[in-house]
Amino acid sequence: MRPIRPGDRGPAVTEIRAVLTGLDLLTAPGDEFDAATERAVRAFQQSRGLSADGRVGAETWRALDAARWRLGARTLYHAVPDPLIGEDVRSLQERLLEMGYDVGGADAVYGVRTSRAVAQFQREVGLKPDGSCGPYTMGALRRLGRKVVGGRPQWLRESDAIRQSGPTLVGRTVVIDPGHGGTDPGVVVADGTLRWTEADLVHDLASRLEGRLAAAGVRVQLTRGPAPRTCLPDIDRAELANSLGADVFISLHTDGHANPAADGVATYHYGTDNGVTSATGERLAGLVQREIVARTGLRDCRTHAKAWDLLRLTRMPAVRVEVGYLTSPQDWARLVDPRFRDRIVEALVAAVQRMFFPVERDVPTGSIDVSALRAVVAAGAVRD
Ligand SMILES: [Zn+2]
Repeated sequence: MRPIRPGDRGPAVTEIRAVLTGLDLLTAPGDEFDAATERAVRAFQQSRGLSADGRVGAETWRALDAARWRLGARTLYHAVPDPLIGEDVRSLQERLLEMGYDVGGADAVYGVRTSRAVAQFQREVGLKPDGSCGPYTMGALRRLGRKVVGGRPQWLRESDAIRQSGPTLVGRTVVIDPGHGGTDPGVVVADGTLRWTEADLVHDLASRLEGRLAAAGVRVQLTRGPAPRTCLPDIDRAELANSLGADVFISLHTDGHANPAADGVATYHYGTDNGVTSATGERLAGLVQREIVARTGLRDCRTHAKAWDLLRLTRMPAVRVEVGYLTSPQDWARLVDPRFRDRIVEALVAAVQRMFFPVERDVPTGSIDVSALRAVVAAGAVRD
């Protein structure tokens, strides 16, 4: 085919200009190959590593054709023998690479490695692993868009968002989720005629935390009251936090085990077996875990990545803390003491505060005097 060149007119030029306009290389479509179109073609050729002659021959035409596809506009799959090629494939590959999946490279060709990576992603988010990228897979990618990260670039972007908003707690929204409730009491321990339930204890913790955070200027919302009629599913708790645009989500539980020797605190954040993790969720989990261990002396059962609905569907840094085992006589004796519960709450306040310090300005664990927090914030002493 004869290259399309400056001065040409017609349907082919209209198509070329439409694609270039879609790529923001040209300000308006049209049917004339004018000087602006030539500049746009050269810029496009340069960006694709083609020889920048300003004419549209077979090779440039193919590249333009591939460039018209935006991720989500068509279903992507591994086609044999002619694989799908396009910018949408490249965007998908970059996204998967960023999350730590092995697609080889972002070459814009939907080959067998891309298909395998998509299938692995689908398995991990609970979709049918058919290796093709349609509306459901796109939906999952979009939903995880803000939080699932593996690579460093994304981690930097997430901490930048927090850094830009500054270290103050004033005006933040924190959603506190006391686990269980209603028909589901969680772990239950009998003490003579008394009956201690996880649902009651974590609600008490949640309302103490609510008071402390509110005093520091935080907007706080609990996912349930002290005695709800039904137990809210985790999906709805996550949805509530999303709809409130929460900055941080903390779910509170106590653990239980048949063996009374099991004790200690553990904190969970979003992640999969594949090493895909929410970087900010992991950071929040680490802060919560370390502060609680340092301030309460509960055994350190460490932080763990889990793909639970509650952590997977929430779009902000989210953690679930299991603060001690109600079935451990030692942990139980501490948890039923309101002063001990206040120490847990102080640890959580300190962790939330540290979440908003830039990483390089973070302070040692246990060093924040949370009782003076409001005065310090008001005086501007914790300002960047
Ligand atoms: Zn629980």
